[in-house]
Amino acid sequence: LLFLAWSLSGSAWAALRRVPNKGGLMDTPDDDLLAFSDDADAAEAGLGVARRSWQVMVIDDDEDVHQATRFALGGVQLFGCSIELLHARSAAEAREVLRGRDDIAVILLDVVMETPDAGLQLVAYLREELKLRATRIVLRTGQPGYAPEHETLLQYDINDYKTKSELTHHKLLTTITSTLRAYEQIRLIETSRSGLEQIVHAAGAMLDVQGLNMFASGVITQLSALLRAPVEGLVCAQKESGDDQSYRVLAAAGSYSGLLDKPIDVLPDAHAVDLLKAALTEARSQFFPTETVIYLGQRGGVDMAAYVRTERAIEVIDVQLLNVFCTNLNACLRNLALIQRLHKEAYEDPLLRIPNRTKFIEQAWQQGLEGRSAVVALLDLDDFASVNDLMGLEFADQVLRAVSLQLRRQLDAKVLVARVSSNGFGLLGPASALAAEHLVSLFHAPLTVCGQPYRVQVTVGMYGLTGQEQDGAECLKNAGMALKQAKREQRGHSVWFRPDMAHQARNRAQLLSNLHNAFDQDRLYMAYQPQIDLQTGAWVGLEALMRWRTEQGTFVAPDKFIPVAEQSGLIIALGEWAMNEAFRDMRRLIDQGDAPARMAVNVSPLQFQESGFLVQLQTALARAGLAPERVELEITESVSLLGRGVIEPLLAQLRDMGISIAIDDFGTGYSSLSYVEQLPLDKIKIDKAFVRQIDRASGPRIAELIAQLGHKMGLRVLAEGIESAAAWHALQDMGCHEGQGFLMAHPMAWSDLLRWMCERPRRAAGFL
Ligand code: C2E
Ligand code: CA
Ligand code: CA
Repeated sequence: LLFLAWSLSGSAWAALRRVPNKGGLMDTPDDDLLAFSDDADAAEAGLGVARRSWQVMVIDDDEDVHQATRFALGGVQLFGCSIELLHARSAAEAREVLRGRDDIAVILLDVVMETPDAGLQLVAYLREELKLRATRIVLRTGQPGYAPEHETLLQYDINDYKTKSELTHHKLLTTITSTLRAYEQIRLIETSRSGLEQIVHAAGAMLDVQGLNMFASGVITQLSALLRAPVEGLVCAQKESGDDQSYRVLAAAGSYSGLLDKPIDVLPDAHAVDLLKAALTEARSQFFPTETVIYLGQRGGVDMAAYVRTERAIEVIDVQLLNVFCTNLNACLRNLALIQRLHKEAYEDPLLRIPNRTKFIEQAWQQGLEGRSAVVALLDLDDFASVNDLMGLEFADQVLRAVSLQLRRQLDAKVLVARVSSNGFGLLGPASALAAEHLVSLFHAPLTVCGQPYRVQVTVGMYGLTGQEQDGAECLKNAGMALKQAKREQRGHSVWFRPDMAHQARNRAQLLSNLHNAFDQDRLYMAYQPQIDLQTGAWVGLEALMRWRTEQGTFVAPDKFIPVAEQSGLIIALGEWAMNEAFRDMRRLIDQGDAPARMAVNVSPLQFQESGFLVQLQTALARAGLAPERVELEITESVSLLGRGVIEPLLAQLRDMGISIAIDDFGTGYSSLSYVEQLPLDKIKIDKAFVRQIDRASGPRIAELIAQLGHKMGLRVLAEGIESAAAWHALQDMGCHEGQGFLMAHPMAWSDLLRWMCERPRRAAGFL
């Protein structure tokens, strides 16, 4: 923009010489400096338009000189203006008259007055103290002998000196004419230089403003500065969006202040309103001697008009500058509109048109800084991936819209509702407006999605701001920790953040780093637990289970490290390794001539998600030379989170290969039964929690139910965690086909497995 201002200044200069004088009313096309008329005659006459007269001052202690000058210049018109004479009879009197005036065009000055150099001293005062640089000075001396030195003439920028005898009527007129022309040129140069400086300054100042309001008041300030007029004006702007398309006052100064935000039609100054409206409808600026209306922006886009009243009449040069000013400001305004759009895009969720994560973090940080005891709640839709998958993306979007609407309708207006993840909302507001269980209960009744009732379940993590947070992201992180904990243990409920969660998170990080090391240093190995036919006692399978022995010889339970590996993605590498180990050991058993029908390997949903999973599996099979029929993959209900579109084709493909699929820990997950029912499976594993119940008062009810379900679905049923003969019998009675548990065998390292194989009972009775 700076560049723009200066590059335009060249044409501004060109235009300056070409501006026609339209008798006081100047009307130039907005934004188009080159569109000025090229009328050379007008240019010759094109001096001050709004000027009424030239101010010419006679300073002389000789009354005859005053008389003669008055006689010579009285009634004369030069460049369309009359001449107004001012008189002073001494240097002292002249100082009085000159103080506070900057409009004196020419001074006819006597050198010798009170003192022999009173005139020259006055010149020094005028140039150095009063800083009157444009005023032209013609020295007059009584005798040629008193002529000042040439150097003095240069030093004080004195135009000319004449002996008094030279000042005949004709000569005086010639002198005044040429001096006036010099004066006007100097003044134009000065005005435009300071004007352009002002414009450059304005552009710089306006580049930084944020928001239309600030921009608007900037326009008034800069306009007033440019016109060297007191701040007196108002700006109206079209509201960018919304139904209300009326123009309202965005900024007001001077006698107009107080009209802020008023619609344009109700303003008391009907004249100003007319001018503003004309500018807005015609999309152009207009310049009048004491009023200026500028139009900025684009029709149909953000646009505004500013009205400024000036006490002094504006001149042609001002119009030139105003045009440059408008061009520059237009660029600023476009910038502003662009920045606002970027701002909106950066801070708004495009689907729901509510604040996004960035905005939420900023606001949380802000509230923390202000020491407000606000609460951050993260609300997650449970099983959203399967909604996406089962019902399609469009439906899922409608669900999100319904949730967003419900939150905004039901929560206090003070609560900020933002979308912070694909299926998560962030809420920020006073604790009184964000009661944890209330949030969950907002979704107890079904929402309306696509005209139909639709039930969603939410899990919520809560965090109370302390003001001690490092940044806004920390607020979100803490609420996120509470949410994760809730997701792990209490889906459908809300959990408050506790400092020990951060501690646990650190522990998990430590655990992960140790796990990485253990994996690199081969401290992981596979243990195998036999699976037994409950009718015959035949050894039918092995489940491969991962083990981690630390350097100190202690064990870390898979229940502890597998979730961490899953959270970090390390499970993908671990899982591939486990598969290779298990397949290799299965090969060894086959080669020894004593192997069960199948090797079962646990597969995490994350592995399933990996596009390379199938290749990994095939490579491992090929490397071990294992038929797919000898492999079973154990998946958990949580694969349902991946969505049906992913899981179903993959399972079908695996089964087509000959691999069997078992659903692990059945009944402990959260996927709907109907969902699992539709998956292509071979086996259901009854979780050990239900098997354990058989020995207790709660009885075998759930295990029985799952077994029946398995039968109905035509699946084989395996019970895990069999620790007693009673459980075995009960499960056998339920029609459970297979079982695994401490009663038969613990998971064993390779060498222990070989020993067990030698000693194992061959019949069911042997285990009991
Ligand atoms: P899971 O897949 O349900 O494995 C069965 C768990 O039950 C094993 O625990 C096993 O040692 C234990 N178990 C077997 N019989 C009995 C019994 O009679 N009583 C009791 N109380 N427990 C019994 P483990 O080895 O601690 O593994 C825990 C979980 O870690 C596994 O549960 C599985 O989800 C995961 N896991 C273990 N190895 C792997 C692996 O290689 N990959 C993946 N993705 N997960 C694994
Ligand atoms: Ca398992
Ligand atoms: Ca299990």
